[in-house]
Parts: sequence; C-alpha cells; structure tokens
Amino acid sequence: MSLNWITPAQRIQQLPAYPFARLDELKAKAREQGLDLIDLGMGNPDGTTPPEVIEAGINALKNPANHGYPPFEGTASFRRAITNWYHRRYGVTLDPDSEALPLLGSKEGLGHLALAYINPGDTVLVPSPSYPVHFRGPVIAGGNVYSLTLKPENNWLIDLAAIPDEVAQQAKILYFNYPSNPTAATAPREFFEEIVAFARKYEILLVHDLCYAELAFDGYQPTSLLEIPGAKEIGVEFHTMSKTYNMAGWRVGFVVGNRHVIQGLRTLKTNLDYGIFAALQAAAETALQLPDSYLQQVQTRYQTRRDFLVNGFNQLGWNLEKTKATMYLWVPVTPGMTSTDFALTVLQQTGVVVTPGNAFGKGGEGYVRISLIADCDRLGEALRRFQEAGIYWDKTQSLQNCKQPSAIHLA
Ligand SMILES: *Cc1c(COP(=O)(O)O)cnc(C)c1O
Repeated sequence: MSLNWITPAQRIQQLPAYPFARLDELKAKAREQGLDLIDLGMGNPDGTTPPEVIEAGINALKNPANHGYPPFEGTASFRRAITNWYHRRYGVTLDPDSEALPLLGSKEGLGHLALAYINPGDTVLVPSPSYPVHFRGPVIAGGNVYSLTLKPENNWLIDLAAIPDEVAQQAKILYFNYPSNPTAATAPREFFEEIVAFARKYEILLVHDLCYAELAFDGYQPTSLLEIPGAKEIGVEFHTMSKTYNMAGWRVGFVVGNRHVIQGLRTLKTNLDYGIFAALQAAAETALQLPDSYLQQVQTRYQTRRDFLVNGFNQLGWNLEKTKATMYLWVPVTPGMTSTDFALTVLQQTGVVVTPGNAFGKGGEGYVRISLIADCDRLGEALRRFQEAGIYWDKTQSLQNCKQPSAIHLA
C-alpha cells in the first residue's frame, strides 16, 4: 500500500517554494554531460579543518568516556572554551553554565529557537534578503513574518525608522545578521546601539547571527551584539564553527546571551536531540583556542580571492566595492534580467554556478551571491568564461572598460 494520500503538515506546506529546483536540475544535467562546473553557489568552505583540531578529535574519539550520550547542555569544558573565547575576542563576560549553549550547527539552533519562542500568529521581523532559516524557522513555527526590505542605498542595513510603530509594538522577535550572508554588508557599532535601543523600547527579542565573526578583512573587526550595554537583557547571538574553521561537516555551533532564552531553547532541544558527540565538542574547543595566526591565514586566503574577483568583475564593467567581511560577493545582475534568469544563463553559458538573490527572499531580487570558495586559478577561469560568453554588466560600457581583455589574469 502506498502512502501517497498522506500530506505533510501545514507548517511544511506553508514554506516558500524551494528556489533552486531548476538550477539543481541544470547542475545535475551539466555534471552528467561531464561539463567542468565551477560551483560558487554554496556557502561551503573549500579549506580543510586545521590539523590540531583533527588531532584533538581523534584523541577524544579514542576516549571511551566520550562514547555515551553527551550531556544535554554540552560539555562543561566546551562551554568554558566558548565563554573564554568571548572574553578574549570581545571583552564580554558570560556564565558558561547559563549563558552559553552548544548547538548541532547554528542553523539547528536558529530554527529551533523559532519553535521555542514563536506562537502561531506572532509577528517576527526578518530582513529580506536574509539567510533562509531566519525566515523559514519562523514560518515553520506558524509566525507572521514581517519582511524588512534591505536596500543598497541604505548599505543593506535595516531601516529601523521605516518599521511602522504598530508593527514594532506587536513584534516578538527580530532576526538579523552582520556581517551579512548574502549581502556581505557590515554594520557599524552605532547600528548595534540603535537596534538594542529599539528592541528595549518595543520589548523585542533580538536574535543576532554572527557566523562571520572572524572572516573579516583589511583589519575590520565585526561587532558582537553582546558588546552593547544592556544587550544581554534582550538578545542572544549565534555562532558557528563551520566557516572560519572549515568545519561545516562537523555540525558544531553555539548560542550565547540571555539566560532565559537559552533555557527555553535548551528545554525544547532536550525533547528533540541529545546534543553533539562529545568528541566533536573536544575538537571544537581546540579550534576556539587556535592562535590568531590561524585566523590571519584564513582571512588572507579569502581576502586574496575577494581582491581578485572584485577586480575581475570590475573589468567586465561592474562597479563592485571591496567587501569588508564574509566569503561572498553580492553582485547586481545585468540590467533587465531577473536573478534566476541571470543565474541560469551564467550556468548554461559558462558552467559557473552562482546563487540567485531571490533564494534569500524578495529583497534579494536583482542580485546573485557568489561564494569565494575556489582558488584564484578557478576564479580566473570563471572570469575568462564570463568574458568569452559576453556576460558583462553593461555591454556598451564594458566594451570600453575591457579594451584590454587580457588584463584579466588567468593564472
Ligand atoms: C553558514 C551560515 C550558518 C550555518 O551555520 P552552521 O553552524 O553550519 O549551521 C548560519 N548563519 C549564516 C548567516 C550562515 O552563513
């Protein structure tokens, strides 16, 4: 007997359509045909986990004490490593027992936080574009997502003054993320001060995603929400080991901040999961203790790629500024095209995979996100194919800019 009469719950049916379907289909087809795809679509770092971290993981794996169920709230020693790291990076003091909670990746925690705090019909403020779980989590929980459309003229910052008073009065939670995926925008400290004042005024829980805490360039240091006085009373902040430490497959992240909110999330999780394998927590602890020279090395790696790709695109007629953080470029599509058309055209004509901006919400229309997850050889090859296929920002303009096409270095 087949089960095709059984339909998924409404909370699943309500989710916005998965925007990558056509792109995935074309990608699969291209792979079948043996085409050489350059996949810059995902946010999956191409580097390897640092050897010290792997070593710590292997040693912990051999210790039978780690083989049983881990403690629900994470190991005491990983929680201490988290709060020590916070103190070292931001000068913020946190209690490892009540103000830090390890997660099975930050995506898990961001999604479950919505289930732990949002009732059906609650208003949730979410920027558009944003990282998908920031709106998909609230939709699954039955919340009413009120989109805060981000604009280039506002440097992709949330325009708090544009939020109607009655919406702010009703809102329960505000998700946000700087340095941002997908826009690569960063927010000055004053913005964090304003958003804390806004949240205190309207009694809104602030959920800040600081996944790119350490992927910043040219000496820029991203701000932690918790550096702002009073933020701990109204906010929590999420972190991941995935990006900076090349540990995306390990599934380790953590949340810090308001103890009541962390307690609520922990209660939900206690009913759904058993936390992270203790051996992985031991490895993650080692990662947080790596010397700053490790960070510099990672930063230089992405910064070199950023410089290379920004220069290349600008030679093709774009006018991109150098991003200050993250592993992404947020690139406007050729005028007259939609994000999806552009991404599909690029894939068909060049074999380069980029992510259409509308995957991150309506506010991402008109842009594509390009990940800096290949070395300069491959990025150069991608640029060469763009040029060959005649994919320029603006043909008339770029013909002037590209007087010396060979100026794009292919090496
Ligand atoms: C990559 C990413 C995450 C996911 O991190 P995991 O810890 O691997 O689940 C969360 N938020 C943003 C903004 C990201 O870019």
